[in-house]
Amino acid sequence: MATGAQIIARALRDLGVTVIFGLVGIPVVDIAEEAINLGIRFIAFRNEQACSYAASVYGYMTGRPGVCLVVGGPGVLHAIAGIGNASGNNFPLLVLAGSSETTGVTKGAFQEMDAITLLTPHTKFAVRTNSLDSIPGAIRNAYRTCWYGRPGPTFVDFPADIIQGKAAADFKLPAPENVLLPSPPKPSGDPATVLKAAQLLRSARAPLIIVGKGAAYARAETAIRELVERTQVPFLPTPMGKGVVPDSHPLNASSARSAALKNADVVLLLGARLNWILHFGAPPKWSPTAKIIQVDISAEEIGRNAGNAELGLIGDIGLVVEQLSTKLSNWRYQPSPTDGTPFPSLLASSAKKNEAKAEKAALKPTPPNTPLTFQRAYHIIKDTLNSLSPPEDGQIVYVSEGANTMDISRSIFPLNHPRQRLDAGTYATMGVGLGYVIAAHAAYDVYPADKNAAVSPPKKIVAFEGDSAFGFSGMEIETMARYRIPALIFVMNNSGIYHGDSTSEDAWKSLQSQTISNDTKSEEDHKKGLRSTSLLYEARYEQLATMCGGKGHFVRTEKELENATRDGFLESNTVTVVNVVVEPGVGQKIQFAWQGGKDEGSNKQAKL
Ligand code: ADP
Ligand code: MG
Repeated sequence: MATGAQIIARALRDLGVTVIFGLVGIPVVDIAEEAINLGIRFIAFRNEQACSYAASVYGYMTGRPGVCLVVGGPGVLHAIAGIGNASGNNFPLLVLAGSSETTGVTKGAFQEMDAITLLTPHTKFAVRTNSLDSIPGAIRNAYRTCWYGRPGPTFVDFPADIIQGKAAADFKLPAPENVLLPSPPKPSGDPATVLKAAQLLRSARAPLIIVGKGAAYARAETAIRELVERTQVPFLPTPMGKGVVPDSHPLNASSARSAALKNADVVLLLGARLNWILHFGAPPKWSPTAKIIQVDISAEEIGRNAGNAELGLIGDIGLVVEQLSTKLSNWRYQPSPTDGTPFPSLLASSAKKNEAKAEKAALKPTPPNTPLTFQRAYHIIKDTLNSLSPPEDGQIVYVSEGANTMDISRSIFPLNHPRQRLDAGTYATMGVGLGYVIAAHAAYDVYPADKNAAVSPPKKIVAFEGDSAFGFSGMEIETMARYRIPALIFVMNNSGIYHGDSTSEDAWKSLQSQTISNDTKSEEDHKKGLRSTSLLYEARYEQLATMCGGKGHFVRTEKELENATRDGFLESNTVTVVNVVVEPGVGQKIQFAWQGGKDEGSNKQAKL
């Protein structure tokens, strides 16, 4: 006689689920154990937040829903972080949770909480199963719904009496072939609008293709690369759209981002929303007369902010781009000689200026007894990684979160393959990084980026974590050590959020000597104490790795950083944390370069 837990595990296996990200307790532990018995990998985390983040991005990387299993009440509350992250980023995520027995409702039962009411507004649907018969159908529909259409989160709640219940003697599991779902059906664009969009592109003075993470999720790289190649239109990737067309492509306008957005007159927007990441498609960042052709799977997205509903194409990006390519087959963009500075020249000169500035920062050697700058540290890491693994091979998957840590790394580490750069995303969620590392490892173990290529050597996951971002789920280092995930994690340690603060250094020194420091700071400063952005001065984060058998390096100098990077890259058996002391930037203005201000043009981090 099957138990509820067995029926749940079977439904998941029959849907093709190969990995579950979770954290168990009563009653969901039975589900996890049955899943393991069926050959599903269960990755056990230290906090539901991290496992829900991991499952959400696993869906993005593999193109199939990520599955997350948590306990009820507090477990669900923690997992809401990943539900929000999946809905903010449009990642397909199925969250499963246990809850108290149905007979205990309103009595104050163990971890009792009405998760359905709580989650209904934040998911594509949230449902509770109330009979063992309904389990396979509910799981299948939840899996299908989070995946089909615009991806997002769904939720299924299993009361303890359902998980632990026994099916009736005549209960029959559905045949596996009736459970398995095909990939989402793909719609193509309205032919009349495709024609209109093609004509508009042909007439453009300064056309631009923007490649978003929706294009990466749609696996439209072949179609988009062909379109770019054929039409010679410059392209600009969003942070997670990087690599759909290789960053090394000569038409990549990333280093001239501001100039490209400001001057483009016709923009083909492929799987990116006109939200804060793209400055709403509006002035002052965009030309007020720019015509935007939005291509999206979601009709609701068309016409939003500066979008023009009459130019919107609802459809799968790969198919729509092929349709456009057919209509543009005999066209190649050539700037008109009578239009002032041609768009490509404008982009080239802006890129040259920005790249020269970045290079200057990267090549400046660190003076003795001075902390590394972010730029210099990244330059050393990049050189070392390149010498171990040529960027064309696409062996490295980058994860990056933090403020400066993420902003600066984005432009320094180019990508030639899609879905190999994961960052804080649409929600700018800090704390996703370590979960993302674990998910990337799981995704590339099972789903190599190129199914036709041998997965040898396996992908190496390299993360750049701000010291603050790292702290949100630092304990997941133990998870990595436990599963022998040989990730290489750099903690960019400037002793603070955005930047460090000398007060934290003072506090640390006084702690060391157990005296009140009486240095040059004014009494007023000491009264104020630590700032809201301060973190412990030079905390030894690498010891989180060594404490569980991983490798830890504390580095201050260029040589130490180079050696630690090499050792960490070559390590194949356990996690490595490299704690890099970087310039704290005391007194610098607090800002997130991406949001920028009026003066963004003068901000060296703004050119991405
Ligand atoms: P970015 O962060 O790169 O700006 P967004 O997350 O804002 O990207 O936008 C991604 C968009 O891609 C979403 O609006 C989503 O609906 C869309 N999308 C996802 N999958 C597909 C697909 N297969 N075809 C077309 N659009 C898609
Ligand atoms: Mg910091």
